[in-house]
Amino acid sequence: MPRLRDGRDWTVLAACLDEDPDLFFPAGERGAAPAQLERARKICQSCPVRGWCLQLALRIDADHGMWGGTTPHERQRFKSRSRR
Ligand code: SF4
Repeated sequence: MPRLRDGRDWTVLAACLDEDPDLFFPAGERGAAPAQLERARKICQSCPVRGWCLQLALRIDADHGMWGGTTPHERQRFKSRSRR
């Protein structure tokens, strides 16, 4: 994965570094989970490394959680469209 010009890993710029991980990886899909994911999505929208985060999620086939402002379902749809 890419590194910053000063050699640091790109994740040091992640907007979620100090956020509650449960927002990005809620337990299950019901109850508080949809609201948690929407809060996470808002954080992702201002993240300077969002594109790299999404690239990583697609590469490792992350099937849980919010990555690059996308849910697992959204990433699956993206992958399906890319294969066509
Ligand atoms: S895009 Fe979202 S999940 Fe990815 S590093 Fe940024 S804030 Fe974190």
